Amino acid sequence: MRILVIGGGGREHAICWALKKSEKVKELYCAPGNAGIAQIAECVPLAVSQFDELTQFAKDASINLVFVGPDDPLADGIVDAFETAGIPAFGPNKAAAEIEGSKIFMKNLLKKYNIPTAKYETFTDYEAALAYLREQTMPIVIKADGLAAGKGVTVAATLEEAEKALREAMVDKVFGDAGNQIVIEEFLEGQEMSILAFVDGETVKPMVPAQDHKPIFDGDKGPNTGGMGTYTPLPHIEQSIIDEAIVNIINPTAKAMVSEGRPFRGVLFAGLMITKDGPKTIEFNARMGDPETQVVLPRLKTDLVDIVLAAMNGRLADLDIQWSDEAAVCVVAASEGYPASYPKGRVITGIAEAEAQGALVFHAGTAMKDGDLVTSGGRVLGIVGLGRDIADARARAYEAVSVIQFDGKQNRTDIAAKALV
Ligand code: AMP
Repeated sequence: MRILVIGGGGREHAICWALKKSEKVKELYCAPGNAGIAQIAECVPLAVSQFDELTQFAKDASINLVFVGPDDPLADGIVDAFETAGIPAFGPNKAAAEIEGSKIFMKNLLKKYNIPTAKYETFTDYEAALAYLREQTMPIVIKADGLAAGKGVTVAATLEEAEKALREAMVDKVFGDAGNQIVIEEFLEGQEMSILAFVDGETVKPMVPAQDHKPIFDGDKGPNTGGMGTYTPLPHIEQSIIDEAIVNIINPTAKAMVSEGRPFRGVLFAGLMITKDGPKTIEFNARMGDPETQVVLPRLKTDLVDIVLAAMNGRLADLDIQWSDEAAVCVVAASEGYPASYPKGRVITGIAEAEAQGALVFHAGTAMKDGDLVTSGGRVLGIVGLGRDIADARARAYEAVSVIQFDGKQNRTDIAAKALV
């Protein structure tokens, strides 16, 4: 097969790495890719938003499967664009991607089908939202309706913070049109967990569960980022709770999308809070998570191409997807200053040594400059250790982190620590 992956982060490097293991893959392309992806696939210098150019490239290169990584092009209808051009693309179409693209669509869907989620109200009018807010108890959660690069959610501890978040979204328009409508939602207390699943419409095949760490600093301090590290499995969460989330949340959501005439084909990602009343939905994403992908795919034993083809053809029910019993821990090495502004062009060393020790190193923000591998993004590398359990995988990941260097490198030192307790 000739496969084109869309995206250029650590997630897409992990996707390319998993696809490359398949004997069915003859040619692998990635647009735009990065310096790590370039070692295993041919990078195509096109942005994920250039639908016309991407479909033209796919026709010219006789691509017979496209795998879309990021959320923005899915919400904008990239799968529809490829399908119109006659090229099969893995991922939800625009109508199905709305489960991530509009929080109001998602909340209303869950309410209609009685799927557990936080209580909420939606608003288009600032004054009405403010009046409602002033009657609520704190903490409370304010969410911009649309995609806001992961920054559209504020968990406010005080009314003052909540009012500020509301003003920024609805009056100052810091998220642009994504903040035209907002959700004000009950604060849920508990442990968070993510479950990703391959979905072919009706059938849901869950992946192994993973846990992300969003804040930049140890102890979950500081501003939120795209994700600073992940691990799998979750030994501190009972399998019965994971099963409950699949049965009560993910399966009925897939069925609800079919009932709504928007069958979801792709990877559905549920962000969940395990409350004292059981798992409740925080969010749905319409694609694989970054950096969840970097720990989940290394545990996949079944050929990823077979899974994708089964999901696209409604044959997932027939497929027995196998996972290894290993643990995986991913530590993200980020640029100095991230998630605010950061320098680029710092020379990176030590990757070959880390790989020789058995680590997997997925590139996120890297580029080649004058023959050197340099930093080119906020999150630079996802460094993955594999081991017999979390403690072992974590030790290997941090050993690899210590041999990889670039000026201003910052990483959390407590990834997966929760799973050791
Ligand atoms: P989201 O972008 O919707 O995943 O929200 C980002 C983060 O905000 C989540 O990972 C949670 O930590 C937190 N969050 C979102 N909604 C809630 C809620 N209703 N209660 C508590 N925390 C929440």
